Amino acid sequence: MGYEASASRYDTMTYNRSGRSGLKLPAISLGLWHNFGGINVYENSRAMVRRAFDLGITHFDLANNYGPPPGSAEETFGQLLKHDFAPYRDEMIISTKAGYYMWQGPYGEWGSKKYLVSSLDQSLKRMGLDYVDIFYHHRPDPDTPLEETMAALDLIVRQGKALYVGLSNYSAEQTKEASRILKRLGTPCLIHQPSYSMMNRWIENGLQDVLDEEGIGSIAFSPLNQGILTDRYLNGVTADSRAGGPSVFLKPEGISEETIAKVRKLNDLAAGRGQKLSQMALAWVLRGGRVTSALIGASKVGQIEDAVGAVSNLAFTEDELAAIDAILLA
Ligand code: NDP
Repeated sequence: MGYEASASRYDTMTYNRSGRSGLKLPAISLGLWHNFGGINVYENSRAMVRRAFDLGITHFDLANNYGPPPGSAEETFGQLLKHDFAPYRDEMIISTKAGYYMWQGPYGEWGSKKYLVSSLDQSLKRMGLDYVDIFYHHRPDPDTPLEETMAALDLIVRQGKALYVGLSNYSAEQTKEASRILKRLGTPCLIHQPSYSMMNRWIENGLQDVLDEEGIGSIAFSPLNQGILTDRYLNGVTADSRAGGPSVFLKPEGISEETIAKVRKLNDLAAGRGQKLSQMALAWVLRGGRVTSALIGASKVGQIEDAVGAVSNLAFTEDELAAIDAILLA
């Protein structure tokens, strides 16, 4: 069936400027790490991307290795672009990344110019695109000179294969150095993609200051801590959840009784704000405007609707923030 985007798609979403760039991103972005691969049901993936776009989510985040199997999330997205979103390409911000293992031999991972250029060419082919909006180096490479990796990002922009570049999982110090190199080359870093949630606050110890100084935006991945910061696991691990499924990134043993006891308290606190816990967790990441976008994952359309609903209440009282800290930092 043909897809026509909702006429009201821009009515409720908030768009935030990424650092000191010209680009605005939606407060909620959708990542295709899980649930969009070759092992997943295509019609569910399709329904999620359609609903997201109808709710004003203009940004979709991918990587070369998302699946499983690796590459298949980009293939799924390519099909969606071809069949549903071709008329809307100029309303979409599509990102991909390279850095983790993708193919065998010395050129299939890390940060050489050889790997980054080849990988992006493969990604463009899988998605049927001429260019991506944002291309990231997915993780720092301890062995390749930073100058080479940054020169590769600059080259990719000059070749017209990406409009902007980003860094992911770089420390505060690595980000500062990379940003200086990119500025010198004339391709400033648009955005940093770090993990960040109520339960994982490492970016507050230096990285956020560097991003402010350098004028770089940020998009927080796993803001729900892969689903732990929702009501998902309050009554145990079900087969349709990430922890109960084939994902190697979240296992039932990773969700302790102690963690669930804290989640239960957070869930009560969220109810007091008139929000679901998932919504409070996203609001917390976006509070104060330091983070450009919260990058969620989803397995169901309803989870995307929940996430977008968070945007209408991003304010916290000092008491609420203190209560969250008392639960999580005690
Ligand atoms: P989240 O922390 O948002 O977790 C998403 C999962 O939480 C969903 O798949 C779902 O799991 C569960 N969930 C979401 N909403 C709800 C809800 N309302 N109620 C109950 N459960 C809910 O993010 P991800 O860990 O998925 O990461 C998001 C994106 O970040 C990725 O797709 C990717 O683009 C990016 N990323 C980047 C990395 C990097 O190194 N740069 C690393 C990891 C992620 P369930 O299956 O149980 O329903």
